[in-house]
Amino acid sequence: MKSARGYSLLLLGLLAVLPGCWQSPSARYANYPPATLTPPASRPPLQIQPPVVVQNPWKPTGPAREWRHIVIHHSASEGGSVEAIDKQHKGRGWDGVGYHFVIGNGDGMGDGEIESTFRWRGQTHGAHAGNNEYNQHGIGICLIGNFEEEQPSAAQLAAVKRLVSVLKHEYAIPSGEVIAHRDVKATACPGRNLPIAEISQSVELPLVSLPVTRQYPVVSAWQPGGPWPGMAVGRSPIR
Ligand SMILES: [Zn+2]
Repeated sequence: MKSARGYSLLLLGLLAVLPGCWQSPSARYANYPPATLTPPASRPPLQIQPPVVVQNPWKPTGPAREWRHIVIHHSASEGGSVEAIDKQHKGRGWDGVGYHFVIGNGDGMGDGEIESTFRWRGQTHGAHAGNNEYNQHGIGICLIGNFEEEQPSAAQLAAVKRLVSVLKHEYAIPSGEVIAHRDVKATACPGRNLPIAEISQSVELPLVSLPVTRQYPVVSAWQPGGPWPGMAVGRSPIR
């Protein structure tokens, strides 16, 4: 009986407390501010930038030859072009221009214009070094001009540095294998005014896909404002 009384008291107690706890749902949240739905802040539309494509604009279509060296030459002439050198070299009984690339100086070809020859497109050996290893495995680059007498133009220097940096990167050619013709043959080529050390150390840079044309925009690609917005003047190691 004692426990029954205890239960009764507990029940009474609960009945006294529960009404105090009980609140209708609306009363329970009456003190909370009403929920408001605010639309998300409007975001600026996504700016889709065209992708920067890293590529070698001079990549031949066929399989690459095993390139180990880059040999720099000058034409030892005032002006010139691929066609002019081709004619000259055919006159020597060769099968055409001996170099893989020719860089113009504005006389016969555009200033700083880089043109590949049939040897590059066909990935055939060169006829430029007077040395079998360097003809077989050396990429021959000829800059139009006589750098024993004259200075290369700024556009030519920028062009050769860009070409060398791309070729070094693409074919894993170390800077030490970018050499002057005089390093493998008794010749003054490519002249005392061509800074071979500077050219050989040209740094690989991200390359932007540009149409491969005869008039390749060698210099404009490095100018501030494009293709890398905000690129400061003089930041490019090829300048
Ligand atoms: Zn040479």
